[in-house]
Amino acid sequence: MMDTLFMERDPYAPIRHCYPISNVLYHGKSEYQDIMVVESPHFGRILVLDGVAQCDEKYEFIYHEFMAHVPLHAHPNPEDVLIIGGGDGGVLREVLKHPEVKRAVLVDIDKEVIEVSKRFLPTMAVAFEDPRVIVLNEDGYKYVQDYEGEFDVIIVDSTDPVGFAHVLTTEEFFRHVYRALKEEGIYVGQTESIHYHLEIVRRIQRSLKKVFPVVDLYTAVIPGYAGYWWTMSVGSKKRPVREPLREVKVQTKLYSADMHRHAFLPVSFYEKLVSGEYVF
Ligand code: SAM
Repeated sequence: MMDTLFMERDPYAPIRHCYPISNVLYHGKSEYQDIMVVESPHFGRILVLDGVAQCDEKYEFIYHEFMAHVPLHAHPNPEDVLIIGGGDGGVLREVLKHPEVKRAVLVDIDKEVIEVSKRFLPTMAVAFEDPRVIVLNEDGYKYVQDYEGEFDVIIVDSTDPVGFAHVLTTEEFFRHVYRALKEEGIYVGQTESIHYHLEIVRRIQRSLKKVFPVVDLYTAVIPGYAGYWWTMSVGSKKRPVREPLREVKVQTKLYSADMHRHAFLPVSFYEKLVSGEYVF
């Protein structure tokens, strides 16, 4: 099957990634979405949900390191961490590298994503058995509403903001997140590509600014995602997040204290980009 092509169906991107694949290892339908794992000679195994690539074995470390280590190093003592989505386990693996973390709650609506990841993506789904982990299969939007002052860091690693993931990018959701965070709490969410999804980035940033006193945006280059240059939006209840507060001791491939600082756009560029003054 060497020259079979898998075409990604990102509903927003103006391009379509087309991956040569050597095999379809799994294809099924859960209550929530279509789930596939395909094998690519270059990317290794790729998890695909509703036709959109979520993570691949070759480059997943970049996305997962930046999603986890930027907020955890910007926090003085991240003991309680909530991950919404993230059923592949990649963010969880990185979060648990921090010895400060006493409890990591992972709330993915779809238990089949977790099961498929454990079976086919063992390098990502390595941390589910850690005694600090609690896994729940619920809607993250509803889950977070039950808590007040509970978490130090909340990471939203969800699918694109369509269907049941859309609510995770609304102002109402950010108000619930704000309430569920402790005094020095930090929220981070993946907010799509800077070029191809700029209106989504702006909408999310505007909503965050209505809720959090400190809002920022950082980026990482992820070779498997449409547009490559990916954004992560931050809302912080107290402190700026551009500098790591604690010494970086975790073992990583790319993230470092310098990379943390470089991940943030220059303030003037960031402000123009988000306000709409600057247009690509
Ligand atoms: N890194 C990936 C990306 O951006 O391409 C995201 C990976 S992770 C597998 C996304 C997960 O978010 C999926 O497993 C999906 O089930 C979960 N998800 C989407 N909406 C959710 C919601 N409202 N509550 C909880 N989990 C949700």
